[in-house]
Amino acid sequence: MATLLCNERGVKLTAARRQVLELLWESGCPTGAYELIETLQQRNARPVNPPTVYRALEFLITQGFVHKLESRNAYVVCIHPDRRHACIFFICADCGVSAELEDERVADLIDEDANDRLGFHVTGRVVEVQGTCRQCTPAEP
Ligand SMILES: [Zn+2]
Ligand SMILES: [Zn+2]
Repeated sequence: MATLLCNERGVKLTAARRQVLELLWESGCPTGAYELIETLQQRNARPVNPPTVYRALEFLITQGFVHKLESRNAYVVCIHPDRRHACIFFICADCGVSAELEDERVADLIDEDANDRLGFHVTGRVVEVQGTCRQCTPAEP
């Protein structure tokens, strides 16, 4: 999917970029850059240059393959990188799992507010909601 989109957009998914993306897919939950670097190091059995990883992440974010969760300083793959959307992340404070929902209404709402009320130019739409997931929420007695 990412390879296809990159071809379409005329950008290159280099080995480093691909590897970082694959790691995030495998991890499935928000992962910090430091953790990514460590895993890469183990996997490649050689030192990894941190700026390479940060540049790869930047590229992946710009292309919409990855979102950054500011509240956790972590990265997570986007479930639908081919569409313009507002991402709503529900992040569990206990286990760290995040669930992404896409909602066009939210994208429209953000754009509307930005344009009409604030004259604000939107470059990213990531909404983070904190709480506890179903697994971590104690059942009602
Ligand atoms: Zn997304
Ligand atoms: Zn949880």
